[in-house]
Amino acid sequence: MKRSMRVLAGVAGLGLACIIGVKAFQKPIAMALIDRQLEQNMGRDIIAEFPEGLHVGLCGSAGPFPNRDRRAACVFVIAGDALYIVDSGAGSPGTLGSMGLPRGAIKGIFLSHFHSDHIDGLGELMMNRWVQARHTEPVPVYGPSGVERVINGLREAYALDALYRTAHHGEGIAPPSGNGGHAVPYDLGSDPMASQVILEANGLTVTAFNVDHAPISPAVGYRFDYKGRSVVISGDTSPSPNVTAMAKGADVLVHEALQPVIIERFEARARTLGAKGTAKIMHDILNYHTSPEQAADIAADAGVDYLLLYHIVPPLPRFFDKLFLGDALERFDGSIKIGTDGFMLSLPEGSNEIEERDLL
Ligand SMILES: [Zn+2]
Ligand SMILES: [Zn+2]
Repeated sequence: MKRSMRVLAGVAGLGLACIIGVKAFQKPIAMALIDRQLEQNMGRDIIAEFPEGLHVGLCGSAGPFPNRDRRAACVFVIAGDALYIVDSGAGSPGTLGSMGLPRGAIKGIFLSHFHSDHIDGLGELMMNRWVQARHTEPVPVYGPSGVERVINGLREAYALDALYRTAHHGEGIAPPSGNGGHAVPYDLGSDPMASQVILEANGLTVTAFNVDHAPISPAVGYRFDYKGRSVVISGDTSPSPNVTAMAKGADVLVHEALQPVIIERFEARARTLGAKGTAKIMHDILNYHTSPEQAADIAADAGVDYLLLYHIVPPLPRFFDKLFLGDALERFDGSIKIGTDGFMLSLPEGSNEIEERDLL
């Protein structure tokens, strides 16, 4: 046998031995890996690892379009050690868990409006929060009028689940009084420029403000101020002067984005196929959202440092980023990021720094 053939046979034999070896030890190796993961992650307080300040990130970066990599609308805000959630679209509670954020630590939930892509994860999120930290009181859920119906409906939908959990784990683990949410409604009226402080706690101020998601009303956005740092979340809206006004002087604007150039292609294709219903929906959604270019204009007018786009419609792989952004980059001097699930910005107190992190 030639030398090269012998070397090749040797390598092949070694490879085969490795495969046999891995197969033989697959179970103990897998068990060791699980133990290692548990040691590193179970009981870990990831929030304590962040610098003191304000943090904002995405537990769901998509809108209602289904996507393998993105869950529906969900934003988390951490002020000091307090975790808050703005909207909870389908699948977003699981994404929070994958990021290592403790759902049991959620201090409050804010709803922007009641479209399903913003509340489909809410029942699961409230249940996770309850059982994970043995809460004895429901989580406050702040929202414009109508939030009571959503919370009461979910309470009924999850009533049997709550009974099962208390019966199975005991009242010490799943105290019946802590199940679900406690609606905290507020009314901003119909003035498109209305705003109102709805929460002040431990240095954090949360202000709700009207946006323009007509014909959907009420629809609001939120501004979070903490230790000199600030974040504004648009919710679902067409370009709104109230978002610009509320984002004045803020560090970060988290704004929804829909690219009409692409959605118009969806509409045209649906018409070609004779799918009139789909074509009409594609047409209708154009008039109550904001394009990335318009969001860039709003960020520039408001003078924020960072524009984080979310509620990405349609959600596409990174290859399409340039097409999605259009000329947004030329319209705004600050940073623009097409948000992804797990992406987070940290705003340490006493600085102008904005640090990017990825928790997934
Ligand atoms: Zn939406
Ligand atoms: Zn909406």
